[in-house]
Amino acid sequence: MQEEMERAVKMNAISELAASIAHEVRNPLTVVKGFLQLMQKDEKGKNNDYFSIALCEMNRAEEIISDYLNFAKPHSKNVQVMEVNQVLREIVNILTPYALKENVELKIEGSNKTTVRSDQNQFKQVLINLIKNAIEATPKNGKVNVDLEEDKTVVKITITDTGKGMSNEQLTNIGTLFYSTKDKGTGLGTMVSFRIIAEMGGTLRYESKVNVGTKVTIVLPVDSNILHNE
Ligand code: ADP
Ligand code: MG
Repeated sequence: MQEEMERAVKMNAISELAASIAHEVRNPLTVVKGFLQLMQKDEKGKNNDYFSIALCEMNRAEEIISDYLNFAKPHSKNVQVMEVNQVLREIVNILTPYALKENVELKIEGSNKTTVRSDQNQFKQVLINLIKNAIEATPKNGKVNVDLEEDKTVVKITITDTGKGMSNEQLTNIGTLFYSTKDKGTGLGTMVSFRIIAEMGGTLRYESKVNVGTKVTIVLPVDSNILHNE
């Protein structure tokens, strides 16, 4: 128990640090990218190719940071009450073109007016990371379903995919810093998601079967003000 707590404190410190660094690195990256693009215009032949490679690597660095920070800025929490259904639909809309491109059917079900309390951008970051993983794991013509259910005190969001699934070993490693099975993966997406959901007072759980698919369940406490009003 003691060990577990120490580990949690350590992980928290590491991820706070990593998030701050990611945030600070993003701006200079954008500036350098802009100049590279400008300089490339005057170059032909080999030099032009070198600029292309440099820009490509810059884009990759940016992608890693956006896993982390697309929405979630560290140290600037803006906690508000929001309707889960509305936020979910917005994120599904954002990811629909990506799902179409990958030939995966992305569907959302359930509609209620349940509200939760969180930094909206951080919550969106979680949903993007998890739904994107589901699409990435799913082969052509597969399905990703997002469902929303509620009872009096909690709201349950499930993201189910018909993808490649995970072994028990993978399941125990998921959420660990830099654990990834993808060629160009970072392992940051799930790590950040676990942290944000824990901060919201919720839980994030994975169930998976190799070659069958994965189910991610997020359980969040509903905003208590609503309960008081009932
Ligand atoms: P990344 O996507 O960069 O690899 P993540 O933290 O988002 O990092 O995911 C970590 C790992 O967890 C992935 O590399 C993959 O092995 C596994 N994973 C996450 N979601 C799923 C899923 N829906 N189906 C199968 N594997 C998954
Ligand atoms: Mg990911």
